[in-house]
Amino acid sequence: MSWEQLRSIALANRQEQEFWASQPPRACPNDGTPLLPAADGTLRCQHDGWTYQRDYDAASHAGM
Ligand SMILES: [Zn+2]
Repeated sequence: MSWEQLRSIALANRQEQEFWASQPPRACPNDGTPLLPAADGTLRCQHDGWTYQRDYDAASHAGM
């Protein structure tokens, strides 16, 4: 595998990470329960009450 191939893979990974980082989470990071929209427009975990964006820590996703 050439360095150019490695570089393009790294680049694609980064673009994918940035895409997912810009999307709201689909599941609770604590237990994986799918988030459901609440009456106030937030996304809420029915299991432990984790709420997007209140409990969302963007910094924890930066190094993913
Ligand atoms: Zn949860």
